[in-house]
Amino acid sequence: MLFDRPVVCIDLETTGASPQQDRITEIGLIEISPDGSLQEWSTLINPQTRISEFIERLTGISNAMVADAPRFEDIAEELQQRLQGRIFIAHNARFDYAFIKNAFKRMDVHFRADTLCTVRLSRRLYPQYFKHNLDSLIQRMGITTAARHRAMTDARVLVDFLAWIQRDHPLETLRDAIRQVMAKPALPPHLPEGLVDDIPDSPGVYLFYGDRHNGDQATGKQVMPLYVGKSNSLRGRVLSHFSGDHRSTKELRISQQIKHIEWHETAGELGALLLEARLVKALQPVHNQRLRRENDLCTWQMLTREDGHKTLALRYAADIDFALTADLYGMFTSQRQAIEILRNLADAHRLCLIQLGLEKPSRGKSTPCFGYQIKKCRGVCVGKEPALQHDLRLMEALAKLKVRTWPYPGAVAVRETFAGKQELHIIDRWSYLGTARDEADIEHILSGKADPVFDLDTFKILSRHLNGEAEVLPLTGSNRHAAGALDDAFRQDN
Ligand SMILES: [Zn+2]
Repeated sequence: MLFDRPVVCIDLETTGASPQQDRITEIGLIEISPDGSLQEWSTLINPQTRISEFIERLTGISNAMVADAPRFEDIAEELQQRLQGRIFIAHNARFDYAFIKNAFKRMDVHFRADTLCTVRLSRRLYPQYFKHNLDSLIQRMGITTAARHRAMTDARVLVDFLAWIQRDHPLETLRDAIRQVMAKPALPPHLPEGLVDDIPDSPGVYLFYGDRHNGDQATGKQVMPLYVGKSNSLRGRVLSHFSGDHRSTKELRISQQIKHIEWHETAGELGALLLEARLVKALQPVHNQRLRRENDLCTWQMLTREDGHKTLALRYAADIDFALTADLYGMFTSQRQAIEILRNLADAHRLCLIQLGLEKPSRGKSTPCFGYQIKKCRGVCVGKEPALQHDLRLMEALAKLKVRTWPYPGAVAVRETFAGKQELHIIDRWSYLGTARDEADIEHILSGKADPVFDLDTFKILSRHLNGEAEVLPLTGSNRHAAGALDDAFRQDN
């Protein structure tokens, strides 16, 4: 016997790829009993939503075919009985399992099963092959099938596959392979079972908590997370924290302390980055080292002196608006860092520290700077280099540090979409004001906005993302005007 328990080979057809957004249109399953007897069961399902033309063509299941079919709720009880206590075997099992789990979840029914993925099993047993999709398996096994992409036909291929591997490999090899494929990742000891199963494979932000309820009711204080992270694929990223392979001391500590996980799905990477930055700043999780709060954020502003030549002055984010002020160079988290970097630049470009304002001239008009005496300054301080030439060399030296001023007349919305979900990130002067999911949100965010606070992490995220590829919708003029522009943006999708 290959399995020590009853198993069920299952295949679904759906209206799309997202277990959250899309719905099941057909279920085909074959129960295999320990004595080897098979029992087939299949049904079309009315998804209560339209099947797109593309999916109609792919699966051969049309809107007309499912119009009179039972809804998932109608067959849920029977399905549950057929799946109960059986190993859930599917090709890319995570997909089918997620659809079934979500369908039950919408009925407030908790469903879980041990799964065996035949893609992973095939990969383990036949590492010499690159492709392990159903068509490749069919070809390798040399079998003929009826219409592909119908649930029962595909489920039968899995039964054939299980028979085929038993002719190809000794039983012990197969049992080992199945054990390894079914092995769950070692999860932290205090995490509730099944919690990780519920995390979607979508972009978003996750929060790890230790003692979640400890003390919060008594003090009313918010419980701080251990760690906040972001990913384009939440579930895989969360699991990677707990994989034994490359576990750092920090990851080990987190997995010993973690008791709960929360997550927020976003419509894309930008939304995840902005939310992560905001949460890390607001909550300061103990295990987050990046994105710390900066108290002394400063920059060099290029000024023109009375004699018409260029010098620099240190400016703090607390005093001027970095997003709107011209001629700013570099962002530094401390005065020390600002000076150190400017000194290095001056060395490399043989600039004069007196001219830059870093060194006070001694009395007397043209005393040389210290750098000139050790041949590091080209001598603008003693008239050996024309001041205009020094100006030009200074601008060249600083060019790479130039701070991009906010290029829009006012606030903008940046649109992101994922699996039919849309988000509009409202940005003004490099500051993230919030994310809108409908028009009321936009009005709310824009009307509630205080003067934006410049934040280095947000600036870095945005200046990387607001390039030619981003979809930026200006929100100039009144809020009503803005909402009108966004109205169109929403209409495109809905
Ligand atoms: Zn000098």
